[in-house]
Amino acid sequence: METRIVTITNRDWFRGTKVVEVEWKCPTCGEPMGEPKLRRFCEDGEWYDVHVWDNECGHIAKYRHLKIVNG
Ligand SMILES: [Zn+2]
Repeated sequence: METRIVTITNRDWFRGTKVVEVEWKCPTCGEPMGEPKLRRFCEDGEWYDVHVWDNECGHIAKYRHLKIVNG
């Protein structure tokens, strides 16, 4: 099982970001996902860096649909 460690937004507990290990396949079709890269965004005046990526299959994997294995 291929996994990646990425930083994503934290919506469940408190605002900000969290680092998680994710099973690196598309939640929709199971194909491998693209290379993650850091992107900066602003929320309520605070700046965060989170990973974003494109998938060759064309599906968009929302953070809440990722298969988190650790974190
Ligand atoms: Zn897909």
